[in-house]
Amino acid sequence: MLTNRLNLPASIVSAVANDPYVGGGDISVTRLIAPPFQRKLRRQHATEEDVTDRIWALVGQIGHSILERYKPERGVAEERLYIDRGGWSISGQFDLIEDRILTDFKFTSVWAQDGKIEWEQQLNLLRLLAHDHFMNTHDARYVVDTLQIIAIYRDWQKSKVGTKRYPTSQIGVIPIRMWPLEETITYLDERIAAHQHPDPEPCSDEERWKASDVVAVMKGGRGKAARLFDTKQEAINWISDRQGYFIHVRAGEYRRCAAYCDVSHVCPVWQQVVADTPF
Ligand code: SF4
Repeated sequence: MLTNRLNLPASIVSAVANDPYVGGGDISVTRLIAPPFQRKLRRQHATEEDVTDRIWALVGQIGHSILERYKPERGVAEERLYIDRGGWSISGQFDLIEDRILTDFKFTSVWAQDGKIEWEQQLNLLRLLAHDHFMNTHDARYVVDTLQIIAIYRDWQKSKVGTKRYPTSQIGVIPIRMWPLEETITYLDERIAAHQHPDPEPCSDEERWKASDVVAVMKGGRGKAARLFDTKQEAINWISDRQGYFIHVRAGEYRRCAAYCDVSHVCPVWQQVVADTPF
């Protein structure tokens, strides 16, 4: 159910509510790489989502509509493919395949310029679907030997160009590692089995996008850390014979649970974290 807690304009609510996205098959590639525990909760509970949580998805769709202006002469664009495996039909839609390069367009942050593991998983599964399609049709336009993301940095600032590793343009081309096909098939089978399990394990730290713990070296009653380290040993080495310092480990945040999971309000794992957090 879609809610509108901030009373946003009806035009925006309507644009979000009339999402033309169609999945198809028993599960999509996007859902397949997401946590099985999250999917189980989604099936068990009628999920509630607010318009505000769907704005970035809307912006992404606007961008894709504009990018559809590009008509590849030697390739194919915006096509949904299917593969049957493990008793399921798996669907996935690619943005563009041209000159053997499978490209996905992402509206993302400059902080994602090194890529994400989810992108690697998604693009390798799409490549497998394209390969399967090629084997069935012998249409050479579906042959892929390179994977890439074309990133459109939504938070890019011209004034920061020239600072450490900052992208020089609002558009970045991010190469994605391509797996051997056998490895992709193994990964696909593992994901199908995980999602078909009647009682999946709670999400792992990796699936919850846990940030690294930070080791803070504190002094006296000051609230601000004197130094921050990645490991306890580094902090101990720094303190050495300094007097009056102590170590405080700050647990990394579960970023997906905190801000990017539509079932967090019914998730027992996350609700326990919320209940244990002092305010
Ligand atoms: S809130 Fe976190 S642990 Fe719970 S389903 Fe979502 S991602 Fe998984």
